Amino acid sequence: MLELTYYHSNEEELTFFAELILPIPVPKLFTYRVPRELVDIIKIGARVIVPFGKKQGKVFTAVVAGLHNTPPSQYQARYILELLDEYPLVTGYQLELFRWISDYYMCCIGEVMNIALPSGLKISSQSKVQYNPDFDHKELLTNSEEELLEELKNHPALSYDELGRLVGDINVPSVIKSLVGKKAVIIFEEVREKYTPKMVRKIRLHTDYEDQTQLMMLIHRLEKLPKQQEVVMRYLSHIPVQRNPELNQKGLDKGILNQDDELSQSSLQTLIKNKVFETFDVIQPRFSEMQATQAEIKLTDAQQLAATQIMTQFEQQHVVLLHGITGSGKTEVYIHLIQQALDGGSQALYLLPEIALTTQIVVRLQKVFGDKMGIYHSKFSDNERVEVWKGVLSGKYQFVVGVRSAVFLPFDNLGLIIVDEEHETSYKQHDPAPRYHARDVAIMIAHWQQAKVLLGSATPSIETYYLAQQGRYGLVELFQRYGAATLPEIILVDTKQEKKQKTMKNEFSSALLQALEMNMERKEQSILFQNRRGYSPYLQCEDCDWTSECPNCAVSLTYHQRAAELRCHYCGHKEEVPRLCPTCGSTKVRTMGYGTEKLEDQLQIIFPNARTLRMDLDTTRAKNAYQQIIQEFEQGDIDMLVGTQMITKGLDFDKVSLVGIFDADRLIHFPEFRATERAFQMITQVSGRAGRRGDRQGKVLIQTSNPQQSILQKVINGDYKGLYTEELLEREQYSYPPFTRLIKLTVRHFEQAICRQAAERLAAELTDRLGSTRVLGPEEPLVERIRNQFLFDIMIKIERGPVNMKAVKAFIQDRINDILTDKGLRQVSIVADVDCM
Ligand code: ADP
Ligand code: ZN
Ligand code: ZN
Repeated sequence: MLELTYYHSNEEELTFFAELILPIPVPKLFTYRVPRELVDIIKIGARVIVPFGKKQGKVFTAVVAGLHNTPPSQYQARYILELLDEYPLVTGYQLELFRWISDYYMCCIGEVMNIALPSGLKISSQSKVQYNPDFDHKELLTNSEEELLEELKNHPALSYDELGRLVGDINVPSVIKSLVGKKAVIIFEEVREKYTPKMVRKIRLHTDYEDQTQLMMLIHRLEKLPKQQEVVMRYLSHIPVQRNPELNQKGLDKGILNQDDELSQSSLQTLIKNKVFETFDVIQPRFSEMQATQAEIKLTDAQQLAATQIMTQFEQQHVVLLHGITGSGKTEVYIHLIQQALDGGSQALYLLPEIALTTQIVVRLQKVFGDKMGIYHSKFSDNERVEVWKGVLSGKYQFVVGVRSAVFLPFDNLGLIIVDEEHETSYKQHDPAPRYHARDVAIMIAHWQQAKVLLGSATPSIETYYLAQQGRYGLVELFQRYGAATLPEIILVDTKQEKKQKTMKNEFSSALLQALEMNMERKEQSILFQNRRGYSPYLQCEDCDWTSECPNCAVSLTYHQRAAELRCHYCGHKEEVPRLCPTCGSTKVRTMGYGTEKLEDQLQIIFPNARTLRMDLDTTRAKNAYQQIIQEFEQGDIDMLVGTQMITKGLDFDKVSLVGIFDADRLIHFPEFRATERAFQMITQVSGRAGRRGDRQGKVLIQTSNPQQSILQKVINGDYKGLYTEELLEREQYSYPPFTRLIKLTVRHFEQAICRQAAERLAAELTDRLGSTRVLGPEEPLVERIRNQFLFDIMIKIERGPVNMKAVKAFIQDRINDILTDKGLRQVSIVADVDCM
């Protein structure tokens, strides 16, 4: 409608145009016209609603990235429909960030915005149905059509859902379809904001009665109406209007006055009708107000020294690595530094890996920072995340602790960013685009806002440690556990030997069983780590070698005993468990290998009195499941916790004195260039859960078929530097990061031949220009088919140094586009993963 009004305007010189970011994977901005009444108020960074595409009523939420008065030359600009924000919701820094991410990670700016904005900030449109007043062919209607139409006549407009609720067992979509055909109804799109503030209805005394005489007269008047008088008195007992009229303005929750009996409810209604009380609504924050209870933390001497060194190094360096062993109290050092940043008037951001955030750390931080701290987590609802976003904008939250997506929050005055467990691979987003690394993005943001970055880890990534060694980052070490605690004793258990001597009980070595038993007797807790969920990774027939495989992917189906299902961990496909071998009918179908479920089962057989818990993806899907497990374990009634890598992160329990690690060999020999580094990190981190209190040294048992492996020796000795030196040599020899930058291209198609053809052509074209040492592949990845699509990988390695990466990426993108637009290679998709992990 706006479009028609302004289209014919002849004041062309007055027209303004806006460059908009639309949340779609198209590599450009879109130009729209700004309606005249918005010209003075529209601002860069505000959200707008715009029509898009040919379909009537299709709209998007877009963000204003620029304003100017040059009409587009290629197309007729359409009008912006609505402005959603009077004040920018996206800051200038953020727009710069979106641009940088889209350039660096080779994706579209719309994709960046789509991930950056919590979905509660994106409006959605919903189809609504309306009765057509011009319709006059009632004789054409069936019974159900007539019934539907009756409902529509009684309402201004209804959504499909609302209609469904009104008409019971009519198939709403199909009936509407035929009604549309008969021109009896009109369908349109209604736009609505997804974010809804939480409202509470409150009540207050009419201002007239803030005056003492008036109030006395009122009470007097109510003598004859004791119920009403009682309600007024009850109000006064909560709100001493005389002493504090301001309190009256804030009012009282309506529920508090009429909670108990119906009589007081109707009295209250009467009082409201008679204007003694008035009602009003207020927006209530979704996060309960939390008062800080702990004024200050006392650092140990070692921690204080580390903190001072960090501050000193910040004078020269933008980024400092804190290499501190598990249990050294890195969190305490962070808290100290965050307080300093906040005292200095700047904002602070504390990034944690997804899973570590749900735990005890938040409780610890809340004690110190109370409600000044925002929490940004992906398990939070849309509404909750919108409130944190707006809280940062308004200044309510000077400090946020969050997962990787918290780098997108609208900070504009950061003083300090902490990236805890900086080696964690979960900081890298895999899917969908942007495939960004939150640590690296944080360093960019800090650069723009002149903030400092503190990276923390007990097992730094090779890349980060390398940069610290090069002097590009500062380095501070904290090699002492807090209090009297020491690092646990690590023992390697030779499973080959035990198997030979037949002392293994299923997956458990006798050494581990003994240690577990002793721990139970001492009423101490144990953690068992197996990085594989489910009961067993596959089923196999002993007679014909049949194995359970996914029909859509090139992987085996995992057996889940509790759910009595076979499941694909790649595409989610589920099947019933076959009783007989599907190929030969044999009854000898066996479970092969073992996951967390099977370990928990066996524990219960071996230790019938033990109380066990399991923590893996399967047991933690519900919103609070994770915290519940942690709480139960913390309260101490649990003897053993079995889990996947989830249990390696950040957990801090007093009574854990034993950690058992299964299948270390599989971690170490995973066919991937980072396998050694990852295995070292994972084993060290999970070992670090043992003996975190001073009473007794903790113990870690690692089951391996080859205790001589040098990486295990390094784990025992806590020899991170040895690992680093050895790894670095290999990385240099085979040109891997930190000596090169990696870009992985994955080509996908439903037909293997087409996929191969596209991948080979792409690789050849890239090799032509970049040379064969820089382009590897195409190669089939470990899992060469997922969801029925075949995959080929091309790895591009560009040496660090004076290479113009921007030009390289532009060239790669150009070659990709060339293939994507080739009609002979229709439906090929190509994904670029920059700095792939
Ligand atoms: P890290 O993150 O380095 O593994 P944490 O920060 O979790 O270690 O600290 C380990 C434990 O020691 C925690 O329970 C923590 O509360 C305690 N702790 C560390 N430093 C202090 C301190 N200065 N005062 C009190 N408790 C501390
Ligand atoms: Zn068989
Ligand atoms: Zn599958």
